[in-house]
Amino acid sequence: MSRKIVAGNWKMNMDVEEARSLYNDLNDVEYPKDVKVILSPPAIYLSEFALKNNNVFIASQNVSSCSNGAYTGEISASMLESINVRYCLVGHSERRQHFKEDNELLAEKVKQLLTKNITPIYCCGESLEERESAKEKEVILNQLNKGLFFISKEQISKVVIAYEPIWAIGTGVTASSDQAQEMHGFIRQVLQDNYNQDIAENISILYGGSCKPDNATEIFSKPDVDGGLIGGAALDANSFKKIIHSF
Ligand code: PEP
Repeated sequence: MSRKIVAGNWKMNMDVEEARSLYNDLNDVEYPKDVKVILSPPAIYLSEFALKNNNVFIASQNVSSCSNGAYTGEISASMLESINVRYCLVGHSERRQHFKEDNELLAEKVKQLLTKNITPIYCCGESLEERESAKEKEVILNQLNKGLFFISKEQISKVVIAYEPIWAIGTGVTASSDQAQEMHGFIRQVLQDNYNQDIAENISILYGGSCKPDNATEIFSKPDVDGGLIGGAALDANSFKKIIHSF
């Protein structure tokens, strides 16, 4: 099975008309058969898109760590399941930073999603300070060990991992393709160490951080980069389509 995925994280952008127009532009298109295309709109638009007959997959940007009940403002994994949402971002650096989500909370979110057969797109990445002090691998390992590697072999096979160096997100500075390959190769190696080679070889590891049409081909050409989690460039249909065709 192909590991290629391009996922667009729309974050907290667009009113409903803008979101519909972008969704329609991206859904009414034939994509290469071996590339999975995922769109992650704001929660308020999820059901409108996810309940349609989609050419693309729909991902939530967040899920509650609790299953149901008196948790005002939260959205549960079973609610996402009930509207056909098959993917969910977990541990995006913006949630870690602005909403103080730590690895322990993220582990609960991963658990909730897996009980409903929703694929977590588990994000990890180091800050500039951590990279400058050569701690990037230690940071990633800690994020993976605490937030993800408690799950079983069967469960990890369903997960997608996104490596997103924080210093590259929304900054216009992208990791070089060699830096991305080094980190992706490292993540695949720790998957092999914690699970097995077969599992490591089949998991999709996406790069995120100022990925654009003009650098996607170079980044996606690396053997352990299986595609991208795209922020800014996912808000423009033509840019996003070009990235999808960059393998
Ligand atoms: C992201 O938010 O996941 C991201 C990669 O953003 P950008 O592409 O804008 O850097």
